[in-house]
Amino acid sequence: MKLNNSQLLKTQNYINGLWCEGTGKLAVTDPATGELLAEIADGSAADAERAVGAAHDAFPEWSRRTAAERAAVLKRWYQLIAENREDLARLLTLEQGKPLAEAMGEIDYGASYIEWYAEECRRAYGQTIPTHNPAMRLHTIRQPVGVVSCITPWNFPNAMITRKAAPALAAGCTVVIKPASETPLSALALCALAEQAGLPAGTLNVVVGTDSAAIGKVLTQDPRVAKFTFTGSTPVGKLLMAQCASTIKKMSMELGGNAPFIVFDDADIDMAVSACMATKMRNAGQTCVSTNRIYVHESVHDVFVDKLRAQMERLQPGHGLDAGTTFGPLIFRRAVDRVHGLVEEAVANGARLLLGGDFLPNGENYYAPTLLTEVHDEMRIAREEIFGPLAVVQKFRDEDDVIQRANDTPFGLAAYVMSENIHRANRVVEALEYGMVACNAGVFSTTVAPFGGCKESGIGREGGVEGMAEFYETKYCCYGV
Ligand code: NAD
Repeated sequence: MKLNNSQLLKTQNYINGLWCEGTGKLAVTDPATGELLAEIADGSAADAERAVGAAHDAFPEWSRRTAAERAAVLKRWYQLIAENREDLARLLTLEQGKPLAEAMGEIDYGASYIEWYAEECRRAYGQTIPTHNPAMRLHTIRQPVGVVSCITPWNFPNAMITRKAAPALAAGCTVVIKPASETPLSALALCALAEQAGLPAGTLNVVVGTDSAAIGKVLTQDPRVAKFTFTGSTPVGKLLMAQCASTIKKMSMELGGNAPFIVFDDADIDMAVSACMATKMRNAGQTCVSTNRIYVHESVHDVFVDKLRAQMERLQPGHGLDAGTTFGPLIFRRAVDRVHGLVEEAVANGARLLLGGDFLPNGENYYAPTLLTEVHDEMRIAREEIFGPLAVVQKFRDEDDVIQRANDTPFGLAAYVMSENIHRANRVVEALEYGMVACNAGVFSTTVAPFGGCKESGIGREGGVEGMAEFYETKYCCYGV
């Protein structure tokens, strides 16, 4: 693997400022080719315990630093990421598969959380509260919660880490992260740069391990951990929430989605198609806010489908590092087989296959961009999170009916509305039971705004001022005078 800065390729866990071996080895492979990229130290529950201990010991010193002192270290980290962005993006593409331009976008997006929270921690204001009793003075102060443990997924191996670690560290917390074992290289490269930036030993720790369940138990049950934050699937999130109950941890959960994408008859169809492509085909459909169900008004259905199909046909599958590639592999074969199973089942139940529907010759993890129409709400493809490059189109006639269908899911992460009518857009945006709604846009996530879901899509928010609040305790201080 060729990197300009060879210091970024780390193959050991990072605990208490030291690079440590694990109990065995874990293979990291390129999902585009199956080629072995690196063998990483396979961490254990005991390593996770040591990491929690290190974070616990580092907390008093780090949390007592002034916000400006913490900000200075975080800004150095941000600058080092910016200086190494090409290498970080290359590493990300190699282990995750997304096209290099998307990986560059993720590195910039991920780094923006570090820069923004380095600024935001200077504004951790408390309140002076008008008193109920002349003999008392009432104030609140905000203090870091303590040790924060994080488990992150493989689909955004860089940004899902910085979105948690940056506000936690900025608030004065110390952090232990278990990244997905498919994509640990991005996490370890971030640690190498954090170390270079001067983050003290024990402040940020990464334990990679194939035994997620054992490591997860430590991160959710160790009493020294004050807060647990997870990004991943809803079933695993439910399990981890239950584990957190024994010590009443604070929790944030960024879980799965089943995003509706509603195209009204008054939409700008070209804009709607571009937005749909961005939300549906980015990262080969493996994003939590990816469009799952496309509802198109019956009067514009055919024109929308024709234009979407034309755009999908232009996608260029290939290795993410090759020039011209706009469409990469899925993360592993299991995901490809699952997606193919959903397509076969939908077609057997009456869906119409307009494009794709099969494996691609590029490699065993590639699945063709696939377009299905005449899908029904009862089909599994419309009820489950797809997490693959399947565009699934249904017709609708009536505004109230489509709102009801869009809300008829246990998920509530992201939704999309395409309409040029501001009155309708307002009505529908407000009626959708989702944590985030994008109107006439396909890509909306930004550092400065709260990201997160309701219902079974999660608890809490990441990004913006809400994302910072997750890592503070508000302490009420009452003084007799
Ligand atoms: P996953 O739940 O299988 O894995 C996520 C992480 O949890 C990985 O690090 C994995 O190793 C770990 N894990 C799995 N089982 C565990 C256990 N028993 N104990 C402890 N840790 C365990 O999810 P995934 O397949 O890696 O990621 C895809 C999912 O993540 C999708 O559902 C997607 O929607 C969701 N996601 C949500 C957001 C969001 O912000 N809401 C963002 C990205 C991804």
